[in-house]
Amino acid sequence: MEAGKWKKDSSIRGIFAEFRPFCTGKARRYNLVLMAREVLTEGIVLRRWYAGEYDKWVSLLTPEYGKLRVRVRGARKPTSKMGMLTEPLNRIRTRVIEGRAQKLLAQPHLVYSYVPQRTELERLSLALALCETLDRWLPDEHAEPEVYQVLQTALTALETAQMPELIAAWALWRWLALLGYCPDTERCGQCGAMLSEQQEKALLVPAEGVFLCARCGQGREGVALSAAAMRVLQQMVRGEPMTTARPEDAQSLVRAALHYAESVLESPVRWLEFWERLNALRASG
Ligand SMILES: [Zn+2]
Repeated sequence: MEAGKWKKDSSIRGIFAEFRPFCTGKARRYNLVLMAREVLTEGIVLRRWYAGEYDKWVSLLTPEYGKLRVRVRGARKPTSKMGMLTEPLNRIRTRVIEGRAQKLLAQPHLVYSYVPQRTELERLSLALALCETLDRWLPDEHAEPEVYQVLQTALTALETAQMPELIAAWALWRWLALLGYCPDTERCGQCGAMLSEQQEKALLVPAEGVFLCARCGQGREGVALSAAAMRVLQQMVRGEPMTTARPEDAQSLVRAALHYAESVLESPVRWLEFWERLNALRASG
């Protein structure tokens, strides 16, 4: 495995060994949770895929047990109500039963369905993309209540926000920060200059996991962020309340998060491609 890359299924220890150079804060403590044989929990469906003729699997993010992979038996039978209830973007209250080889979902109730205007393609796509991204980033069964909270806040905000990209940028950078993968946003990774004092663009070099000041970034490849975007990013990473940003800054922050994640995660983030296409479409009117 190349330095700075990690497989989704690597052990947690392995992930940290690979990632230590990029982590700015203290290495995170992962909260492995042992579940009882049967629990009643609430969670948001991140993703679903099919199994066998009538069943499906869902990836359910819960605040207290983390991300659970759960089988829903009979969900695809025409008479089953379970199918609709366990679609992505639904927050459900459900029983999760530990079977011999797998977890089973039973008696789900819908608590809330995010982005109810399913005709709003941009909001819907962003909401689904956030869920898919989180599904890829999180290891199974590690409690991440703050990560869950960020998803809930982001999905709620996406329903009405004037600038959906800013919400997406906020969620992505909050997650990177909470999971301990965020590069240092305060200082240039080469000369140590304070990036908040710079008037010129900073450059994120995803392959090295560093931000560079304009001088050190000259001639380098990366994602450029304006001084204003850099200040918004610093606020996001510090966990300060969401502020506003110019549309172009919000877009470059999303692009920076995705490029960075793409280079630190082994599997390419599919929605980077989707994102570029959406922007091209917008630009062409
Ligand atoms: Zn520098």
